[in-house]
Amino acid sequence: MSLDETSVATLRLTFSNSNHQFCCEFQLSETISRFTSHDSRQLRKIVVLKYGKPSMLSVKTFTFNPVQENTYVLYNEAGQCCIIDPGCYFQQEREALKNFIEETGLQPTLLLNTHCHLDHVFGNKWAAKVWDLKLHIHEKEKAVLDFAPQSGEMWQMPFENYDGELIYLKEGTTINLGNDELEIRFTPGHSPGSVCFYHEPGGFVIGGDVLFNGSIGRTDLPGGDFKTLFNSIQTQLFTLPDETKVYSGHGPMTTVGFEKMNNPFVKLY
Ligand SMILES: [Zn+2]
Ligand SMILES: [Zn+2]
Repeated sequence: MSLDETSVATLRLTFSNSNHQFCCEFQLSETISRFTSHDSRQLRKIVVLKYGKPSMLSVKTFTFNPVQENTYVLYNEAGQCCIIDPGCYFQQEREALKNFIEETGLQPTLLLNTHCHLDHVFGNKWAAKVWDLKLHIHEKEKAVLDFAPQSGEMWQMPFENYDGELIYLKEGTTINLGNDELEIRFTPGHSPGSVCFYHEPGGFVIGGDVLFNGSIGRTDLPGGDFKTLFNSIQTQLFTLPDETKVYSGHGPMTTVGFEKMNNPFVKLY
């Protein structure tokens, strides 16, 4: 297949018809995969020149600790990455995360917590030290972070809590990973200062323990409240496009549309 204006125009049409850059990028990759590698390079160059560099964040998931918590690494094409909720408790879990980052040639620039329950913060101090990072959390989550070691004792999982400088995340603002913006959405209810990180161009949200595939976060822990959680899901997640991928703190990825249709706790239809 040769590369001509028709190919590019068709590609542009796909761009125009979609509200989401991720979908565009996906279409682009699909198309590219049908070209030879030489054509692919040319095509990418032309598209970048005509429409700007597509935003692309990759998402890598690890599942750590006995609570099977999902730790996420988001990274861009420049190799900058962001570690979200490093729940790595055991040595081999920390090595797995470190090996991935090193083998992929990534440089962590951000350390974020969606919230500070025990299972999401085990590896905060370790990650902060290894990559010289400061922890970012919502201010209302500070008390939860402070309580985490006590909680660890209760569960017979002692650990060293992060004790460095805290940078507070504010709802309605964004935080940057290179040129990519993550929108901070305030989603309390499972814990008082839960936040979700929404990447609009990528069509995904890192949701913490707010909404799961077929379930929602528990609300019986300190600072939890069902009505608040329900409201957070309705106003902060169900207002996102249906095709938005939700990467949850536990269990498999889901989408906003799927949960609106099927989630027994919060479904709309
Ligand atoms: Zn939690
Ligand atoms: Zn959790």
